[in-house]
Amino acid sequence: MTKKSIQTTLIHSDYVAPPGFDAFPPGIHHASTVLFPNVAAMRSTEWKDKEAYTYGLHGTPTTFALEGKLAEIEGGSHCLLTPSGLAAIAMIDFALLKSGDDVLLPDNVYNPNRELGRWLTQDFGVSARFYDPMIGAGIAELIQPNTKLIWTESPGSVSMEVPDLPALCRAAKERGVLVALDNTWSAGLALRGFELGVDIIMHALTKYQSGGADLLMGAVITRDRALNDRIAQAHMRLGMGVGADDAYLVQRGLPTMKLRFERHDASAREVAAWFKARLEVSKVLHPAFEDCPGHAHWKRDFTGAGGLFSVVFNARYSEEQVDRLVDALALFGIGYSWGGPNSLVMPYRIKTMRRQWDGGVLVRFNIGLEDPADLIADLERAFGQLG
Ligand SMILES: *Cc1c(COP(=O)(O)O)cnc(C)c1O
Repeated sequence: MTKKSIQTTLIHSDYVAPPGFDAFPPGIHHASTVLFPNVAAMRSTEWKDKEAYTYGLHGTPTTFALEGKLAEIEGGSHCLLTPSGLAAIAMIDFALLKSGDDVLLPDNVYNPNRELGRWLTQDFGVSARFYDPMIGAGIAELIQPNTKLIWTESPGSVSMEVPDLPALCRAAKERGVLVALDNTWSAGLALRGFELGVDIIMHALTKYQSGGADLLMGAVITRDRALNDRIAQAHMRLGMGVGADDAYLVQRGLPTMKLRFERHDASAREVAAWFKARLEVSKVLHPAFEDCPGHAHWKRDFTGAGGLFSVVFNARYSEEQVDRLVDALALFGIGYSWGGPNSLVMPYRIKTMRRQWDGGVLVRFNIGLEDPADLIADLERAFGQLG
């Protein structure tokens, strides 16, 4: 090579790293541009083909490694990463629905998913209809010739109903309708969605996969190449890129995910049992407890529960009283999300979110990785404020 000026050397270095480097963590590859060795290689490389690299948006070794692992955890074959869990939901809708189509969503669905359904109805010529999450095989009666997609969530992440997924999936399959499952609650560890009949599994990696409450990311997993390709088309058209450092952080969280999940689960059951014994609480909406609608489905279909559940206060307690209790908690942060090390609490105005709600005030708890005895002591103290 001819001698370069310093300005060019700042950009083109002659240094070549020695080969043979290996380590447990996957490398973090930052790239928008991906280099092709020659024009012929560029012309023959297909962006959807995960055997090759074309552009940062379509994948790097860092994102491919994460996608591969996530697909494997779910027993799927393909995975697409998105900048958030909600972006994954939106990508599925935009990939599979067009003007004139119909989509069914459970009444208890993650609220931004409901909001997206309303938007599709208002501005995009799609009809989004809402169904009782406990409908099971009865979904058959709601399926129309133009119904293309049925969303499920197990359990609903605020009011915690556990649907009869196998019955719903059978009814959908008989009519050729795709079923998407938001499997965030169980991290893909405690509910085997594909085995129960769903076609598409979506995750907010923001929760357990990250485990650090420090990033946003989503994933869409399928086990059908043609279906993946339809969704990949939307991934490309919508520009769903994720940052290399965030992808690495999710990778870093995965080896400990099952241990963390089991610890969240054990602690949450301990705290939920404490709530169950309190007279101020009328219901413990934890799928492993009998108060929870769909508890029998949980027993049949799940192998664990994680850290998230809700409690319903006795109707004699007002929202103001319960708000005061929540404010009095020291170890529970008031905030959305779950799956991180810190316990969280969130009161919901559930009456405004459901068509029917005749219970008292609902408060959702995320039990973190603190010692559950300390969490219970904090709750005991705060319950003293209720009067
Ligand atoms: C958090 C969450 C999402 C959205 O994930 P973000 O990464 O926060 O956008 C979707 N579904 C459920 C059930 C969630 O809890």
